[in-house]
Amino acid sequence: MCDLERVQWTIIPRTAPQPWIACSRCGEPKPFRSSGKIRLNANGRRLDAWLIYKCSDCDGTWNRPLFERRPIGDISIADLEALQSNDPGWVKSYEFDIGGLRDRARRIDEGTEVEVHKQTLTDETGTGNILEITLVVRSAVGLRLDRLLAAELGLSRSRLHALREQGQLRIDPDHKDVLRRRIRDGTRIVLERFKEARW
Ligand SMILES: [Zn+2]
Repeated sequence: MCDLERVQWTIIPRTAPQPWIACSRCGEPKPFRSSGKIRLNANGRRLDAWLIYKCSDCDGTWNRPLFERRPIGDISIADLEALQSNDPGWVKSYEFDIGGLRDRARRIDEGTEVEVHKQTLTDETGTGNILEITLVVRSAVGLRLDRLLAAELGLSRSRLHALREQGQLRIDPDHKDVLRRRIRDGTRIVLERFKEARW
């Protein structure tokens, strides 16, 4: 029997990041959410593309530039089709492109609601005294590590912090406030099972 049970948690955010944009109708910055729709404008052989966002208060719009004056010949057929059909997968890659959004907005609210897909990597399940969790986080998520672990393991956050101090919970890469920071791709959490553990 192996003492170590290895699992992988893939974290999928339920909502895309919301940039704060100065809303001309509200007269102040407001969080904007993607409408999922792309607006195109052809100018001769050049194309502009925007992703349309809506103010969460008044539905006023903000057109987020995806590209401007790009020669149509430089755009692949697949991308052109995706643009014309508002392809959800294609749109999603922009909605979760936090780096691109940071160029446009100083403040961005990242989603904290997530789905967690769990996959056991070892053959035997439920026998290990030590649980090793590896996080897969491919999209921007604003969720703190202690909130994720508390929700998924059924432990209070104070208990998690205590376990860490006692050395029963280890996190790699580690730093002082790691439990209070947002979850990161590739983080490993090693946890010793104890009597009342429900996992
Ligand atoms: Zn507004």
